[in-house]
Amino acid sequence: MWPHPLPPASDATSLSQVDDGAYPQSRVTHGGATYWLERSADGVKRLVAETDDPSITDRFHGAVETVGDKVRLRAETSAHNAEALRAALPWLTPAPIGLHTSAGFGDRLGLATPGHVRALKAVRAPIRPVFAQQSIREMGRCHRTPRTVLDDATWGAFQAGWTGPVGGDADHLEELADIDRTAAAGFAFFTLDPKAEVDPEAEHADPDTVAAKVAALDWAALETDLPSFRRRYVGRRINLEHDALELDEGSVLRAMAKYGRALVHAMALYRRLQEKATGYEVEFAVDETDYPTKPVEHAVLAGELKRLGMDFVSFAPRYVGRFEKGVEYIGDLDELKRDFEIHAALARALGPYKLSLHSGSDKYSTYPLIAEATKGAVHLKTAGTSWAEALRVIARHDPDLMRAILALALDSFEANRKSYHLSCDPAKIPADPSDEIVARLLDVVDSRQVLHVGYGAILDEFGPQMYALWNDHEEEHHDIVAGHFVKHLEPFARHAH
Ligand SMILES: [Zn+2]
Repeated sequence: MWPHPLPPASDATSLSQVDDGAYPQSRVTHGGATYWLERSADGVKRLVAETDDPSITDRFHGAVETVGDKVRLRAETSAHNAEALRAALPWLTPAPIGLHTSAGFGDRLGLATPGHVRALKAVRAPIRPVFAQQSIREMGRCHRTPRTVLDDATWGAFQAGWTGPVGGDADHLEELADIDRTAAAGFAFFTLDPKAEVDPEAEHADPDTVAAKVAALDWAALETDLPSFRRRYVGRRINLEHDALELDEGSVLRAMAKYGRALVHAMALYRRLQEKATGYEVEFAVDETDYPTKPVEHAVLAGELKRLGMDFVSFAPRYVGRFEKGVEYIGDLDELKRDFEIHAALARALGPYKLSLHSGSDKYSTYPLIAEATKGAVHLKTAGTSWAEALRVIARHDPDLMRAILALALDSFEANRKSYHLSCDPAKIPADPSDEIVARLLDVVDSRQVLHVGYGAILDEFGPQMYALWNDHEEEHHDIVAGHFVKHLEPFARHAH
């Protein structure tokens, strides 16, 4: 519990100068200096660095004092100092992860990373973390920038003593400008999402309409023509380990009618990324579309992206069933298992690349299935579940505030729910819940989802009070988040590589 005692260290003289409030697990020596994070009684965090080389402390903005034969820096957790810290402790700089098993931990508040680190350390499996991960949509609702998302994750990983590699996911990028902003901030994993250009009408259109849609595509932009496209796919057979996928004419044309424009847009995003970034990897995501991605569609998408030159490390199809925010999988698990198996087999046959599981939080029944099907070539992506769990701290310590938060989430629900898949029924949530019900709001689907998507309005109204509570109960908050994520990560441990 806070404040932490300092761990024993060799340099007792200088340690005696350290104020109470250092996070012991943050202490790390690298490149000629020792760094740690401390927290003052009023909750303000500062970076401390101690070295006998003043050129190191010069890279940070802060106050420097002489302590014995060393200099000691105390510096704010500013954007400049986050960048300098990433340069000093290079593992904190997001880097590509490749085909390793990985997990993305979205953090709407910029507070949860130490809890995520705690979970990873507890699970002790080689799962590569992506602490910095937020979609442009969420950043807008939380008034965050790509840079603050990255910096908060840097400070959190440092605070908790993470010394492994990290990714950084600029999630669900849809516009060229999104690429510019996130590439400039230093993200390393770019999730390209062309959902706005996917044509859902193609799902049920009659063959003539499908043919017309295909003929109308911008084939020049696709750097091919319809006859060549047909030759590449129609009648082709893709051998999978236990099976084969036959690409019949009707399915191939329907796939292109549905995704042809999306391919053009995804390639525009990718080319922009090539101009703007170095040292990155890409995920191609169509998970937020209206219909499950069929195996033939997966094959055509992957084949065309590869032909056009996109090198993607993971693919996020829309799987069968419903992956709603913050709750268990809704659908037939046997059907989902077969869906995972065929997409995973395609990812091995056509890549290899990883399969990505979006809206992946709280879907405990699905993790063993996708871990097994992919043999660990999988990326688990969760976004808002850390936020939902953080609300438990509020419910425990200020039930009145939690009642006000719930009332606001209910009032603003129709606006908040836009662009999210939800099945909650707000009418089932008691209007004036007792303390006992408040304590269980995060355990009931209806209230969990209403609160899950209400973050923008809730933080706008109650942010300062909520942050004060999380600050006062930091250890408890991180323990809650860690416990929640251990349950997410453990099913992947056996297959992780
Ligand atoms: Zn997604």
